Amino acid sequence: MMSAIITIDGPVGSGKSTIGRLLAKKLGYVYLDTGAMYRVIALESRERGIAAGDEQALAALSGTIDIQFKQTEDRQLVFSSGRDVTDAIRTPDISMLASRISALGSVRSALVGLQRQIGCHGGIVIDGRDAGTVIFPHARFKFYLDATVEIRAQRRYKEFIEKKINIDYNSLFLDIQKRDHDDSTRSIAPLKPAPDAAIIDTTEMTLEDVLEAIVTHIALNEQASLP
Ligand code: C5P
Repeated sequence: MMSAIITIDGPVGSGKSTIGRLLAKKLGYVYLDTGAMYRVIALESRERGIAAGDEQALAALSGTIDIQFKQTEDRQLVFSSGRDVTDAIRTPDISMLASRISALGSVRSALVGLQRQIGCHGGIVIDGRDAGTVIFPHARFKFYLDATVEIRAQRRYKEFIEKKINIDYNSLFLDIQKRDHDDSTRSIAPLKPAPDAAIIDTTEMTLEDVLEAIVTHIALNEQASLP
């Protein structure tokens, strides 16, 4: 497989970004975390005092934003105009604001344009909500990861605890429920599996299991497409 486009979509905490990063590493591909881009818009808009309902200002910001990713051994760093915002974009507040802002059509079209530019040459694993439905509907391989809300909230909670960030489990749970609901019911690019996506329920799987399932699926379908 030379330079395919592989999409991974799914709700909060389904494992998309960890799996996406590991899969890209395994294949020697680039990994693109599209959620991080919405998060950077959220962070910058908050810092600049732009209201969440001010679509014009948010569209202008999205059209001029300078987002860079840098892959290290075990994580991906995110930069906004050269500033490291990797941790600043992961707070619960920014998660909720990113979700709110991502419902705006003009913000989405600016970011989808950037995402297509980054991915158009292939050799990329791209994760998000609309990677297989909107950004790259013709991607070679599409995956949709899912899990119960309880297990996803527990995974997120563990991540915060590991980073020594104090967080209330119940409010995290409610935030995740709200974000999934809003992301799946919005009118533009709602979260849903592409009709041709392989759906993986990761509730009872380890990360290694999921990665193996994806790699096996790719290998089987690669062979199937040989003459
Ligand atoms: O994936 P992550 O949780 O970091 O994404 C943050 C928010 O950005 C999501 O809740 C969703 O509202 C939005 N998003 C989106 N489309 C994407 C990726 C993320 O709308 N492709």
